[in-house]
Amino acid sequence: MKTMIYKGYELSDKTIQKHIHEVFHKGGLVVFPTETVYGIGADATNPEAVKSIYKAKGRPSDNPLIVHLSKVEDLELYVSDIPSHAKSLMDSFWPGPLTLVFNKKEIIPKEVTGGLNTVGIRIPGLKIARDIIDIAGLPICAPSANLSGKPSSTIFDHVASDFEERVDIIIDGGKAEIGLESTVLDITTPVPVMLRPGFVTKKMIEDALGFKIIDATESKIENTPKSPGMKYTHYAPKGKMTLVEGNEKDVVDFINNEIKKHKKTKVAVIGAEEYLNQIDAEYKANLGHLSDLNEIGSNIFIALRQMDQLGIEHIYMHTLSNTDLGQAIMNRLSKAAGYNLIKL
Ligand code: AMP
Ligand code: MG
Repeated sequence: MKTMIYKGYELSDKTIQKHIHEVFHKGGLVVFPTETVYGIGADATNPEAVKSIYKAKGRPSDNPLIVHLSKVEDLELYVSDIPSHAKSLMDSFWPGPLTLVFNKKEIIPKEVTGGLNTVGIRIPGLKIARDIIDIAGLPICAPSANLSGKPSSTIFDHVASDFEERVDIIIDGGKAEIGLESTVLDITTPVPVMLRPGFVTKKMIEDALGFKIIDATESKIENTPKSPGMKYTHYAPKGKMTLVEGNEKDVVDFINNEIKKHKKTKVAVIGAEEYLNQIDAEYKANLGHLSDLNEIGSNIFIALRQMDQLGIEHIYMHTLSNTDLGQAIMNRLSKAAGYNLIKL
């Protein structure tokens, strides 16, 4: 399949708009940027188109997909009831990195929701993404644009290497600003339940609602998965990844010692600059400063992909505090490490 590549700023071009519109309406696939990660999108009302997403990704089909809309007014076309507290959440966080789970209407096929009667909906914060949805004139279901088992794509090079010749169109929007998937919140239950941590934190949600929610995310590494999609070990690099928890000096000493032990293999350390400065490794992936969790979050998936590009066999990283955005970052890192954590 020939893949057309367009730049985000070319979307005002009428010929390109026509092409995007036609691809979606004939059941094709368009990879597009959002502020969280890149998505691989299709017409959410077309079961065949939805199935082809799963095929292109090589993803199990019981994993529900998020439906992306460009405006709040369209919500009632696809969901059967909108709880009153949903409004304050939408006012506070839409457009943006929060997915809300509603009871779905008939028009959203089971193929989108992995057989569930609920559907996760989000209005992306990135204007390019909303423009694409408008051009389509359809609800667009889109999981993260990565082959199954690989980290989510946050830069154009990664979507191109995964999906060139597998999809009709790729839109290049540069680097994803947030770089972590959206927060998922189920609002179909009397007390809302957070299913996946993200840039919008539990505290931000509780502040907007004025009451407490339930946190069902894997905040504790030992937890067993509770929501669909959590049961797969996503984002795992090929090398063995180990997270090391403890005070800074102990962690640095431990990692330096491990590097010596594994001299004959390719060892890399991923981490904040403050840690890396004290570590003597041949391969270091610098995520940014400890004080800037936004920067660290936006670089996680890029670093994980680079581990495979470099053929790294052992990867070490220090943990981060499991609060606010740190919770979302630790959630992704724990998965990447297959929950391999050493507590010092
Ligand atoms: P991704 O498309 O890769 O960002 O993953 C979407 C994730 O959102 C899924 O793996 C689920 O964890 C969550 N999700 C989407 N829709 C629902 C739903 N109806 N109920 C519960 N979780 C959902
Ligand atoms: Mg994904």
